[in-house]
Amino acid sequence: MSVTTEIMLESINPATGEVVGSVPITPVDEIHSVVAKARDAQPAWNALGLDGRLKLMQPIANRLAEEAPKIGKLMTAEMGKSTPEAQGECAYGAEKFTSELSSAYEAFQPEEMTDEHTRSILYRDPLGVSVAITPWNFPMLMPQQCILPSLMAGNCVIFKPSEETPLVGQAYAEVLNEFLPEGVLQVVQGADEQGKALVEADINLVAFTGSREVGAKILTACGPELKRVVLELGGKDAMIVLEDADIEAAASFAVQNSFRNSGQVCVSTERVYVDASIAEDFESLVLEKTKEWKQGDPTDKTVKIGPMVSSTQRDIVLAQLNKALKDGAVLRCGGGTTGNYIEPTVLTGCSHDMQIMHNETFGPICCIQRFTTDEEAIELANDTPYGLGGAVYGETQHAMTVARQLTPGMVGINKGCGGSEGTPWVGACQSGYGYHSGRDGHRQFTQVRMVSIPLETVKPKY
Ligand code: NAD
Repeated sequence: MSVTTEIMLESINPATGEVVGSVPITPVDEIHSVVAKARDAQPAWNALGLDGRLKLMQPIANRLAEEAPKIGKLMTAEMGKSTPEAQGECAYGAEKFTSELSSAYEAFQPEEMTDEHTRSILYRDPLGVSVAITPWNFPMLMPQQCILPSLMAGNCVIFKPSEETPLVGQAYAEVLNEFLPEGVLQVVQGADEQGKALVEADINLVAFTGSREVGAKILTACGPELKRVVLELGGKDAMIVLEDADIEAAASFAVQNSFRNSGQVCVSTERVYVDASIAEDFESLVLEKTKEWKQGDPTDKTVKIGPMVSSTQRDIVLAQLNKALKDGAVLRCGGGTTGNYIEPTVLTGCSHDMQIMHNETFGPICCIQRFTTDEEAIELANDTPYGLGGAVYGETQHAMTVARQLTPGMVGINKGCGGSEGTPWVGACQSGYGYHSGRDGHRQFTQVRMVSIPLETVKPKY
């Protein structure tokens, strides 16, 4: 990111250093009028009702599918995501749009609860004006998860994309705005200054996806007026490889989930704990499979790893790597850097004396530590303030017993941490505050209100 004039935000291609494009930065003193416009548009949007909003938003899915290849290309240029991954993210987002609309529609239906005396109706009303502040690592999917349920709930949304991916954010919002009434979805461009001003403005909900540090600031800023927040934050996901694991499958997952998107995934495998009895074989396989991860120009469809999003992110990762090597980690492959690229790197002999086993790395480094008992593995995996995702590889019942003793919100057994359709995306501990997706996640974009009547009264319409 670089600001060339007072008002323009330039988007820089991290692979080439070239300017991809630019957008006007929203002046902070204009934010109150953006909020006022959203506030004015909200009653009519709410008055459409769930059926009206569903009807209006359903055609968006097809337009998104048409635009997906173009947005994917922009994503590769703006943040260096490999072409298959960027195209995959956009195609998936378009494909999921319809089922997410339906699941939000179901989640927001009035619900009746009775006992022997009383009939109660629970309504899920909009909160008013919501703000979506999102990161750069999944610049289409993360916004969608914060915007779609909020709109369906009847809120107006003000969307601030990451300053690293303003063009993808703009392109995504433009597709939605072909269908939405004026003022229902607005974009604010800029960085922390604009984010802070939005959080402090007269809004009702902040749906934020990003780092734990910024999440904590937002929570503090929302405190005095008790504004609602949904925070999806960083992680330090552990993978445990038990003695009875399928070593081949475990090594493939460790490599895939450490290096995809150059390790810039909130649920990347950041720490691998392997039973000492199988460690030698597991580590050899990880090294072998790492060689398959071709790095280079992310527009080349055969390339699996592109550059880091920026020189800032590259430097954070390199500082952690160098410190780990100084503290005794063994470099088994990779470690090199050119421009914003960091080679896929494997470290063994890691220990919890090392910063790299505690701080979120967000880079292509696979850190391996051996353990001798399951209890030790569980203790090490839980030795973090984070609690987003995790994975356990092993015989199913054995892995299940271990998984239930782990602290993250989502744990996968012999797979990644994502659950089945309709389940929430949930961070525990300091990885989340509230959560989104699935019925319960969608409902966090609403205010529950309840009306009750004596049971013997004629049942009213609601
Ligand atoms: P970040 O926290 O630096 O920035 C996120 C957004 O917040 C950006 O739009 C930024 O401009 C804005 N912002 C910065 N300071 C602000 C402030 N004081 N007030 C309001 N807004 C502010 O995160 P990032 O570097 O863009 O993204 C990487 C982080 O996101 C990682 O920690 C990653 O784990 C996390 N993440 C979490 C999930 C999840 O689902 N839990 C998903 C993706 C990314």
